[in-house]
Amino acid sequence: MPDIHKLSVKRVKGIGDRRSSALEQVGIHTVADLLGFLPSRYLDRSTETPIAQLPLKQEATVVGEVVASRMVPGRRPRFVATIRDESAELDCVWFGGYKYMNDAFKVGDWVSVGGKVTDYRGQRQISHPEVELLSGSEEDEDDRVHTGQIVPLHRTTANMKSSSLTARTLRRLIWDALEALDIDDSMRPDLREGLPSLGAAYRAVHFPESLDDVEAGRRRLAYDELLTVAVWGLSQRPRGSAMAVTSQDSATRLVESLPFDLTGGQQRALSEIQHDMTSEGTLHRLLQGDVGSGKTLVALMAALAVVDSGAQVAIMVPTEVLAEQHANNIQLMVEPLGIRAGLLTGRLRAADRRAAEALVASGQTQIVIGTHALLQEGTVFKQLGLVVVDEQHRFGVTQRLTLREKGEDAHLLVMTATPIPRSLALTLYGHLEVSTIDEMPLGRQPIKTGLRKGKDRDNAFSFIREQVTAGRQAYIVYPRVEGSRGVRSAKAAYEELTEGPLSGLRVGLIYGSLKGQEKSTVMEGFRSGEIDVLVSTTVVEVGVDVANATVMMIEHAERFGLSQLHQLRGRVGRGEAESYCILIADPDEELTEDAEARLNAMCETTDGFRISELDLEIRGAGQLFGTRQAGLPEFRYADLIRDQDLIEQARQVGDRIAETDPDLLGYPWLQERIEALTASGLTIAESG
Ligand code: ADP
Ligand code: MG
Repeated sequence: MPDIHKLSVKRVKGIGDRRSSALEQVGIHTVADLLGFLPSRYLDRSTETPIAQLPLKQEATVVGEVVASRMVPGRRPRFVATIRDESAELDCVWFGGYKYMNDAFKVGDWVSVGGKVTDYRGQRQISHPEVELLSGSEEDEDDRVHTGQIVPLHRTTANMKSSSLTARTLRRLIWDALEALDIDDSMRPDLREGLPSLGAAYRAVHFPESLDDVEAGRRRLAYDELLTVAVWGLSQRPRGSAMAVTSQDSATRLVESLPFDLTGGQQRALSEIQHDMTSEGTLHRLLQGDVGSGKTLVALMAALAVVDSGAQVAIMVPTEVLAEQHANNIQLMVEPLGIRAGLLTGRLRAADRRAAEALVASGQTQIVIGTHALLQEGTVFKQLGLVVVDEQHRFGVTQRLTLREKGEDAHLLVMTATPIPRSLALTLYGHLEVSTIDEMPLGRQPIKTGLRKGKDRDNAFSFIREQVTAGRQAYIVYPRVEGSRGVRSAKAAYEELTEGPLSGLRVGLIYGSLKGQEKSTVMEGFRSGEIDVLVSTTVVEVGVDVANATVMMIEHAERFGLSQLHQLRGRVGRGEAESYCILIADPDEELTEDAEARLNAMCETTDGFRISELDLEIRGAGQLFGTRQAGLPEFRYADLIRDQDLIEQARQVGDRIAETDPDLLGYPWLQERIEALTASGLTIAESG
């Protein structure tokens, strides 16, 4: 049997050049694509409400026969089609003279219409309903295709319709394709216990007998996706054995020099890391911990052990601001130990950069902190022993791999403050062991978070003044650098605030496109306390660590994502002083339901894990949390909330495959899917 993934849609009866090019525009090239084009909804014809009983002002779907259609001229010309079922009549109205509707269906057709039902002078009607032709009066179609108990409705684009690819035609084409093909399932039954074969799954989703069928079919398709990702993840496991570290001397001395003790969470993570690095094998670990939990220190201690053993460490961070901060802090801590740390970013002048690279190449720089610049060919290490990727979710997967390849079997530690739900960790990071820092340093207090409407903005500024008078500092963050209609921006606010509500205070302005040198100067000014209030864009989103800052004010908070808000909030509350996060939502703008939910979540909890769960809930099923950031394509069928069991199953089966056949020699189809996956999404990069 031909592989439906390779079979062109043109091989399906009824699809010629015209239709296939319309299909191509929506990404349907192969028969597998066509079969994977699932109905957007289903009409359950067993539970239809008769027209006479339709509740008003609610979304409803009605099935009936078209009994009349006409253009009604007048001040607001409109096209009206009347449909009837056994109980009553309903008018479907299109304003603006939609003449073409005349051709879309004819009297005698059976249609389903969906929309909000209103009452117009005693007559029930729906304006601009969604219409699907169910069966035409003139054609003699196979009834099973269009009018089962459950009728699938495929969403079609205007373009498809003009190539005569209506929902109805599609349904017919898919039916024919399923009839004609004996779909070969390359996945052996023992790899998909409890799930239907591929052919059965496609049948179930397109022509279900019940909605349970749809779900069973979807689960099989979801499982295919999950298994592909799981096996891909597992294939990323290191095979060789990296250099074992032999000394913890410098790390021990560093801890002794600190004014505080490591938290229990830090200690546990550290001993897991040390265990990996001292035993045979390779450290290949994800370190997760909420913002402010002290991941940098743990990474640094791992770095010192590697340096003690004679190798180099590369620490890659997503932004230049963060690279400079890390470099500053790390230099302060390691220089007393006689260890040299250096900075390497894209912003260095050519000559400085060459000098920095030379120090890395000769091994004199033992710990190098940098941005994507580290990935470039010019950056060569004498002996790279450990790669640390901070804020890992901001990098594409390939970037992480590129850096690791600069060393021979280097250890790898990736860190994230965006806690990853267990299901996602299993799927995307199947190749990584996970350590979690589950407690905050002693003395930290939860950050008081409040939501204010725009009119209370002035109070927020008075509050910032009070805090500054008390010796504290504040951030004010804007969604944009430069204004556009109705949205406050960092630059404009800087002008407004320095002359108005914050006059007399030392206010700084920072944003991503600010020149390198200026950015460093402003950041340094804020760090050293010469700047009281930092007006900023999200350049301060990740990692920035100024313990004296106690207020994070976010303007247009409704425009930020939940994990972004949480990250921003994490810039304060880093010392022992009480800290505050003030979310300003624009009063002129009605908040969407989602925005409201995000802001409420922020006020409700400061727990990063809870935040990430809520984030997943708000974004809803079907949306893969953070995969785009993680450099993976979105799942089409899998749902990380509903499909936890499938994720576990895929992981187990994946483990079995990886153990018995790591090169996938017996699984060419999996190899192909992984290639497609890699080609489609794994290389998405984000620049700092
Ligand atoms: P994150 O996990 O968000 O990267 P950082 O590593 O930036 O957190 O740490 C946040 C702050 O907490 C830093 O100023 C750091 O020096 C401090 N810190 C780290 N560990 C401890 C500890 N055990 N006790 C007190 N403060 C700590
Ligand atoms: Mg950090």
